[in-house]
Amino acid sequence: MKPTKLLIIGGVAGGASAATRARRLCEEAEIVVVERGPFVSFANCGLPYYLGGEIASEDALRIHTPESLRASFNLDVRVRTEATAINRKARTVTLRDLARGREGEESYDALILAPGAAPLRPPIPGIEREGHFVVRDIPDVHQIDAWIRTHDARRAVIVGGGYIGLEMAEQFARRGLEIAIGEMLPQVMAPLDPEMAAWLHQELRANGVDLHLGDGVAGFEPAGPGEGAAASVVVLQSGARLPADVVILGLGVRPEVALARDAGLEIGERRGIRVDTGMRTSDAAIWAVGDAVEIRHAVTGEWTLMALAGPANHQGRIAADNIFGRESRYRGAVGTAVLRLFSLTAACTGANEATLQRAGIEYHTLHVHPQDHAGYYPGAERLDLKLLYAPDEGRLLGAQAVGKSGVDKRIDVLATAIRAGMSVRDLVDLELAYSPPYGAAKDPVNLAGMAASNQLDGLVEKTRWSDVTRLQEQGALLLDVRTAEEWEAGRLPGAVHIPLAELRSRLAELPAEQEIVAYCGSGHRSYNACRLLEQRGHRCRNLSGGYRTWRTATAGNSEG
Ligand code: FAD
Repeated sequence: MKPTKLLIIGGVAGGASAATRARRLCEEAEIVVVERGPFVSFANCGLPYYLGGEIASEDALRIHTPESLRASFNLDVRVRTEATAINRKARTVTLRDLARGREGEESYDALILAPGAAPLRPPIPGIEREGHFVVRDIPDVHQIDAWIRTHDARRAVIVGGGYIGLEMAEQFARRGLEIAIGEMLPQVMAPLDPEMAAWLHQELRANGVDLHLGDGVAGFEPAGPGEGAAASVVVLQSGARLPADVVILGLGVRPEVALARDAGLEIGERRGIRVDTGMRTSDAAIWAVGDAVEIRHAVTGEWTLMALAGPANHQGRIAADNIFGRESRYRGAVGTAVLRLFSLTAACTGANEATLQRAGIEYHTLHVHPQDHAGYYPGAERLDLKLLYAPDEGRLLGAQAVGKSGVDKRIDVLATAIRAGMSVRDLVDLELAYSPPYGAAKDPVNLAGMAASNQLDGLVEKTRWSDVTRLQEQGALLLDVRTAEEWEAGRLPGAVHIPLAELRSRLAELPAEQEIVAYCGSGHRSYNACRLLEQRGHRCRNLSGGYRTWRTATAGNSEG
């Protein structure tokens, strides 16, 4: 039976998506949306760009207002209204009108929880000092902007190198602030593998960001003599003192589960609201969606938290479908995400190495560095594209890419391939849009598929940047097949140099018994070298991603 009254708690990504879908499915139902904040259905993903001035008007962030939702969808939207308790037996929710301070009960036949996730504020000494901000909603951005103006802020310290922290760093730089980032992990952007994140470290430093990796915050202190900080001095575990006129806490988010937990709904192992594939909670009349729920990772099958707008919107639609009699299933998330950082774009989809290792899933990796479009057409830029795939049948498990151009398009193709359960061999068959300004006759995705297929077929054995030293210690010969100019500009320690063009004529210089690890700039020419050497009786491994990946991965974290 279709419910006559749907109550939704949380009126942004998941909640608004559920409400409008519900109305499209049922004209008769009474649909009430309650939102604690002053705005409904606003673009929280746009907040950093509004603060930085790229989005000029706040109006652009407000996708809807209560009035427009009433007019277009006949929704009863109440902002500044907080749900404080759920009475499951009576099927009512206690609502507090934050403007008037009044409380009342609202009944429901079906209830959707879309309360999102709250920014973490761990009990670090001094964290509650003035001038420290989180970024979740429009009022947060107003407060940050007002603080910067009032205090003529020049130095920002961002605590945490996740995507919100990095977006804020870029936008603060745009406003002319000096920026320091303190990150407890040895890398920023944890969904990327370390050698991919290393590109971001280079980019941050190249743009003047004072990056402190592997150095979490120990405390926030008042400025000492001569330190001049309008907010705090951020003290890192190493003892480094970073004076800050404004501090951004980008320490991650935690699902808002208090309402659900207090109502006795099941909370899962990742501390998100537990839901089934129809987004229904442990109470048959209550659904939950978005950042507040834990869901299955589509690659590993494990429970996971995924604070991303796409899944929240999708889940809102699914919950509404199921409530109004259309069977609809959530198939888990692959975690596709993209970030712009100054001139670079970084994106990922599926599982990274750490996730696969935790799940006990075996995988191969591969790096290619193709150009984003035909090299003969002006403006071509190299991108670093990494695949993770199953060693047996080659099922694609994850992909990451970093570069100046064409990154988002490749990751979107690969996200689709993961969702479709495709193998790396299938990537070879993809027919992708090409004309010189946009791509190549062999698109980077095709090339990555070819390289991975070659590996699966035993045409080439690959090695990773992190295994080079071990292989050398085990007696392997490191062979650089690049040009003399490239060799002069930088090389791996202990390598010998024979350019690919001279390899056939200089084969006698290579010892017959010694294993060879060949490398070039990206892994392409050294693949040709390996094929040649293998056919001449040598054992040869190709360094995946070549000098580019090795240099970035080994230098990225240590540059001061
Ligand atoms: P939210 O959108 O957070 O909405 C939950 C709402 O519920 C909140 O407005 C809250 O006030 C309200 N609420 C909570 N409890 C109650 C209660 N008891 N009563 C009434 N109301 C309540 N994702 C991306 O995919 N790409 C991006 O580029 C991206 N950028 C982001 C940038 C920023 C600065 C932020 C903060 C997030 C970004 N995200 C991005 C994440 C994305 O916005 C979230 O994943 C998405 O909004 C989650 O939707 P949700 O509906 O679960 O929660």
